[in-house]
Amino acid sequence: MANLTLDSVTKWFDDDGDRIVAVDDVNVDIEDGEFLVLVGPSGCGKSTTLRMIAGLETVSQGDVRLGGRVINDQPPTTRDIAMVFQSYALYPHMTVRENMSFGLEESTDLSNDEISRHVEKTSEMMGIADLLDRKPGELSGGQQQRVALGRAIVRDPEVFLMDEPLSNLDAKLRSQMRTELQRLQEDLGVTTVYVTHDQTEAMTMGDRIAILNDGKLQQVATPIEAYHRPANRFVAGFIGDPSMNFFEMRRDGDTLVGENFEYPLSGETLDEVGDTERVTLGVRPEDIELVSSGEGSHEFRTIVDVVEPMGNENNVYLRFSTADDRPVDERPTFVVTVGGMQQVEEGSKVVARIPETAIHLFDTETGDALRNRTLDLAEASIPNR
Ligand code: ATP
Repeated sequence: MANLTLDSVTKWFDDDGDRIVAVDDVNVDIEDGEFLVLVGPSGCGKSTTLRMIAGLETVSQGDVRLGGRVINDQPPTTRDIAMVFQSYALYPHMTVRENMSFGLEESTDLSNDEISRHVEKTSEMMGIADLLDRKPGELSGGQQQRVALGRAIVRDPEVFLMDEPLSNLDAKLRSQMRTELQRLQEDLGVTTVYVTHDQTEAMTMGDRIAILNDGKLQQVATPIEAYHRPANRFVAGFIGDPSMNFFEMRRDGDTLVGENFEYPLSGETLDEVGDTERVTLGVRPEDIELVSSGEGSHEFRTIVDVVEPMGNENNVYLRFSTADDRPVDERPTFVVTVGGMQQVEEGSKVVARIPETAIHLFDTETGDALRNRTLDLAEASIPNR
């Protein structure tokens, strides 16, 4: 087992004289046994980062270290790293047993008997022992995925690299495999880097998540930290579904003035804003309350535009309205999540309360977080019986 370090890792591609920087000065320390999820939108450099760790892509600048040793120039086959791809990449002409044995035959000097024992033990752990004599073409997508994982696990590597390994599975199987993979990783204790563009996978699977955008690392944090204490507006908008609501505001004395509403700030929040003039106010849909009065300083008259029932909750899309209940804006401006049993009718007039404790403020120019919501995790935890 080993820790894995990316030290100022950069990758550029030369494209007809143009330089494309795919990964830009990325620094992450992945602890021994940690499950790190690398997440970000399409084209942000996730796969390139993973491929550099695997040795399938050269490093343009910086170092990749495994257990403290620089491995930049080490060939992939000697890195003691096993990779699982979205496409599974199984050899179609080989049986499951042969697919799983192949890596061990190539990279170890184990005897045939020992290899057989390892393959059988792993296939039992993965629930594919009865498929050992089939070929990949005779397996379902879910079974192929298990074989691909089994093939990585049987090698007992120092690091697992997984590139969107669940995205070809249907939603139900995907969520089942998410849990199973997490448990497996915990049991095996192998350092894992898992790439996905799906923020739900990132939130639910990672010990920590590393969020990339445009080749640049935005934040490395636990899922809860990234959700409640985003480093910048990009992270705030990327993590969470429905997304955080954002309002472009301008500072006028101790009040933020937006297109459709004004939001007074307390002295404490003003201190956090400092001299910044243009501020983006963010608030998560579940933090806005629908209340009956409408007199408070953080309460706003709104009209319900659309209600999206999700079963366990309703997403309610709102428009700000005037004192005589005419909508101020053409389209819904923000979304509020309420409990699934709460009845909200389209067209109804409601008051939205945006509590100051729940707001995030970002510098509009740089995107950096000026202030995150207040959060007391100890207070929010459920005590033991
Ligand atoms: P996706 O989720 O769509 O797979 P990604 O985050 O994994 O995206 P990468 O595949 O790492 O992104 O690509 C990062 C950037 O590098 C993209 O702009 C891509 O076009 C560019 N890129 C990747 N490989 C090459 C290459 N061989 N030559 C030139 N540019 C490349």
